[in-house]
Amino acid sequence: MKELILIKYAPEIFLKGLNRKVFEDRLMTNIRAVLTKEEYTLHKDQLRWFIETDHPQQVAAKVAKVFGVMEVHRVLEVEPTLEAMAGALREVLLRSPKGTSFKVVTHRANKKFPLNSMEISREVGARILQTTEGYPVDVRQPEVTLTLEVRSMAYVYHQMLPGPNGMPYGSNGSTLLMLSGGIDSPVAGYLMARRGVKVSGIYFHSHPYTSERAKEKVLDLARILKESTGSFRLIIPSFTEIQLAIMDQCPKDELTIIMRRFMMRLACAAAKKHRIQSVTTGESVGQVASQTMEGLIVSDAVSDRPVFRPLIATDKTDIMAIAQRIGTYDTSILPYEDCCTVFVPKHPKTKPRLDEVAAHEAVLDVEALVAAALAGAEVVDL
Ligand code: ATP
Ligand code: MG
Repeated sequence: MKELILIKYAPEIFLKGLNRKVFEDRLMTNIRAVLTKEEYTLHKDQLRWFIETDHPQQVAAKVAKVFGVMEVHRVLEVEPTLEAMAGALREVLLRSPKGTSFKVVTHRANKKFPLNSMEISREVGARILQTTEGYPVDVRQPEVTLTLEVRSMAYVYHQMLPGPNGMPYGSNGSTLLMLSGGIDSPVAGYLMARRGVKVSGIYFHSHPYTSERAKEKVLDLARILKESTGSFRLIIPSFTEIQLAIMDQCPKDELTIIMRRFMMRLACAAAKKHRIQSVTTGESVGQVASQTMEGLIVSDAVSDRPVFRPLIATDKTDIMAIAQRIGTYDTSILPYEDCCTVFVPKHPKTKPRLDEVAAHEAVLDVEALVAAALAGAEVVDL
């Protein structure tokens, strides 16, 4: 009897037709990349990928985080004889307390096997009953369902870890995530990464108005994202000069929108410099005063590449639930201020007009401010 890890990948990859191999290869590379610390062997049996290792629990947990993986199963591999299959099933059943009712569900992929699925289930079930006391069969509402798969070898499933699904990381272009310390942007970045998009981050730091702790918090969030992406580049321009210039020379009720346009310009310029194709933000329409339709349009007007907002139609409660699931929530709610809470005006315009904002902004040397912030930016490769 051999313990193995069975990887099932997202059906979406399977449906890629002629391109399937490209995605499979990428997924395989990404799985190998998270297993640098363990010894293992990996072999393919058509659509099934098996890993053999002395550390099945750790390996299964790591593989279950890789984008493109649908499910990770721990299985026992045995010879496809009724005795051996019953023996493995029994071993799994005995992990449940006495009195637990069970049934066996069999999938027979090997059509040459002399019994059909129902017959196999019945035969191995009978053998288990003969050798085990106190575990009744219940085919209607069993407390435990034992899954058996018969191929050229037989597999008894005993633990399933759900994967994230999605597409293999790095198979779908690149984006620069505006990563603040809040709840939304890490979630937005995670969702893009899960679609296979390579994600880098940009954090606008307003030292000394925002503390080092605020920056550390963003770095921590980037590290959490890195657990799923393997590596993560964070670009950190200083935003202070720009904010002070805006505060000094622009109308108070347009501070926020003008600031957001600078963020957009800086993100686009950094994306160009680092050869990143697009920009992503954590905005959700209507969530705050700066995320009105008008606000989004006026800040988009200065972008020279596609801006993705994966959370645009998502409620805060749903975003919070995702943040909990992906492990960013607890860090996001730590109380260090981000630049927007320091410089936020009392009554921001919720319906800014592009012509007015552009005119008020024209008193600033926009290009020089952007160029200086970008030139002085810190680049951290995690
Ligand atoms: P979040 O929870 O992501 O911080 P938020 O609801 O606080 O979002 P805003 O502060 O209006 O919303 O920011 C909207 C988006 O702008 C953020 O999701 C993020 O993508 C980006 N952003 C805001 N502040 C910064 C910053 N200091 N550095 C980088 N990106 C930022
Ligand atoms: Mg924020």
